[in-house]
Parts: sequence; structure tokens; C-alpha cells
Amino acid sequence: MSGPVLQRLVNDDRRPEPLDADAALLLYNRSAGSPDPIYRAASAARNATKGGIVSFSSKVFVSVTTLCRDTCTYCTYKTEPQGEPFMPIGIVDAMLENARSHGCVEALFVAGEHPEERYDQAAQWLERQGVASTPEYIARCSELAIKHGMFPHTNAGNLTECEMELVSKTNASIGLMLENSSERLAERMMPHNGAPSKSPRERIRILENAGRAKIPTTTGVLVGIGETPQEVIESLAVIDGLNRRYGHIQEVIVQNFQPKPWTAMHGHMPADPGYFATVVALARLMMPGMNIQAPPNLSPESYPMLLSAGINDWGGISPVTPDYVNPEFAWPRIPDVRRHTEEAGFGFRCRFPTYPKYMNMMPQVLQDMAAACSDPDGYVRGQRWEEGAQ
Ligand code: SF4
Repeated sequence: MSGPVLQRLVNDDRRPEPLDADAALLLYNRSAGSPDPIYRAASAARNATKGGIVSFSSKVFVSVTTLCRDTCTYCTYKTEPQGEPFMPIGIVDAMLENARSHGCVEALFVAGEHPEERYDQAAQWLERQGVASTPEYIARCSELAIKHGMFPHTNAGNLTECEMELVSKTNASIGLMLENSSERLAERMMPHNGAPSKSPRERIRILENAGRAKIPTTTGVLVGIGETPQEVIESLAVIDGLNRRYGHIQEVIVQNFQPKPWTAMHGHMPADPGYFATVVALARLMMPGMNIQAPPNLSPESYPMLLSAGINDWGGISPVTPDYVNPEFAWPRIPDVRRHTEEAGFGFRCRFPTYPKYMNMMPQVLQDMAAACSDPDGYVRGQRWEEGAQ
């Protein structure tokens, strides 16, 4: 099957047909050891649907709190209470001001999952600020970001419908990784054991809520945490299904697992680069028109391979803050990513946290802000980000 299907995919690059999960798995199994035809087909699909543009988002990473009610076995972001449980609003303000002066466009607010449900210190701190939950505090930080002319994007785990509605009033988009749809990965000794919020059923329910609320949503899969190829392909099919139903998935992150010291999974191997790139390519072939992203700091040696596997986005890159979730992997310099991208023959553009096609789903205040600094294609105008990204 792989021969004729791939031939058709490579040849018919004007309107690539999406692969379903069964065909993707068959293709994966039959192409083991020789994935080049899959990459070529994925590249052709990307070129047909994305017009030679590879984008990124210039962001500041605001780590609102590292406390979390969950415990994932690969996570070093989560900490135990020590000092201030949340970043005080004055520090958030100073970070946003500094970021704006360095050309950042996106204010990425990241928080552990509802820490107020596990730690009294967190609940009391929020109460002193006059808010009831972490998402409510993030909404306040987001208002501040807008005052600084920045576009908020929130990753704070599973939000309730009320919290989602609140955050959506000030955020350009939200992020929630599916990671994997397999219940097996939550069993004993598996990575999602001890992390009830990572239950696939729960994550899918939250992603559905985001769809019903019409919030541009970024999600994705984590590759190499012990899943089978079939499980990762099925996870991509779940994401595709959500998007077909609600039309709100603006981007799929395909992220490679990297083991971290001091975690239960420190001895686990990182995702194999060839397997990872093949999953990227399958994501493209299953969702030809989707925005597919792979984080450049987690694959510093693999830019050409990821481009040839069909990505069209590098995700958020910060000129001012580290990746607090993966602090051992420094962000690349934006000019270096640009050089690699342009040398591979692509146009390099800065996007808002929301992709151009989804801008009309943003709150009106953000649409007005974007109109003042976007180019005719809906990307950020060069003057806004280039100077600060040197
Ligand atoms: S939910 Fe997120 S922050 Fe919390 S332990 Fe898991 S990976 Fe870490």
C-alpha cells in the first residue's frame, strides 16, 4: 500500500488528501528504516498548504506558578512550596515591560495545574489578591499584558468551563497538550500515573470545551514517553477528530521527550530523532492543512530534518526568558532560526500566538491591537519584532 499511496501523495501536491489512522500506521510499518518517501510526501503537503512560510512567535515566558496539584514522572517544572507561591503582579509587570522593549509579541502565561487545590499556601495567597483560582489570577496578568500591547496565551492545564470563559476574554489563544490518548500511559509505573489531569478522557473533554467556546487552541503529542507508534498515531487522529468537529485546533505541537535528571524517568531514553521526525511527517500527512510545530530548542541539531518532515512553525522562542519547562535546553537565537529556515528555502515570519486564519476568534481588543501591527497576510510586521530579536 505504501508505494502507491506515497506516490499519489508526492505527485498530487495541490490538494493533499489526509491519511486516516489505519493508513498512517500501515505506512509507518511498511516504511520502517526508510522514511525518506514519507518525508518527501509530508514536505509536499506542507508546501501545498502553507505556501513556503515557516513561522514562529516571539514570546516572553511568564512562569506564574510552579506549584501543581499533579505529579508527572518526567516533570521538573513542578516544585514544592518555598517562598512566594505565585509570581507577584509587580514582577509580572516588569517582565512584560522588558519583553515589549525586546520586541516580544506573545505573553505566554504558564502555571501548574490548580495548585490551590493541593497547597494551603497557594489558596491563601490567591485569596489575599482577591481571586479564587490560578486561572483568575492569570486573567489579571493577561489584562496587564494587553496594557503593555502584548498578546496573552495561557497554558494552565485543565480549565473549567467558567475558567475558560474568563481566560478567553483576555487571551488570544490557549494551549493544552493532549500528549497521548492512550489510557495505558496512566497505569502503574507509566508516565501519567499520579497525574489525574492527564487522563486522556479528561483532556479530550477540556479540548471539546475549548471547541464549544470557540477558543483558538494549541494542542499536541509528546513523543517518546513509552507510547507505541499506534498510540501516537491514534492520538493524532483524536486531535484531527476534535478539529473536524469544532474547527478550533489552530496548531499541533509534536514534541520530543527529553529525560530530565532528578525525575522518575531520568533513565528513559530521549525520543529517537528518526522516529520523532517520522511522527512529525505522519502528523502532516494526517492533517495536511494543520499548523505543525516542533520546538527548536529540543532538537538543536535537527532543523533540516524537521523542515523536511513537514513542520511549518517553530513555536514560541523567547529572546528574554528561558524555557522554564525545559530549562536545560536554551532557546536558539531568533536570527539563527531565521538563517536555517531561509537557507532551506522558506520565508520566515513572526506570527501572533493566534495564527492568521483564527484572528477573528480573538477578543475584539486583541483584534484591534493586531490590526495595528500586522501585515496583509496576518503576520506581525517586521518593525515590531525584528529589532528586539537581534
Ligand atoms: S501537570 Fe504539568 S506542571 Fe503538573 S506535574 Fe504534570 S507536567 Fe508538571
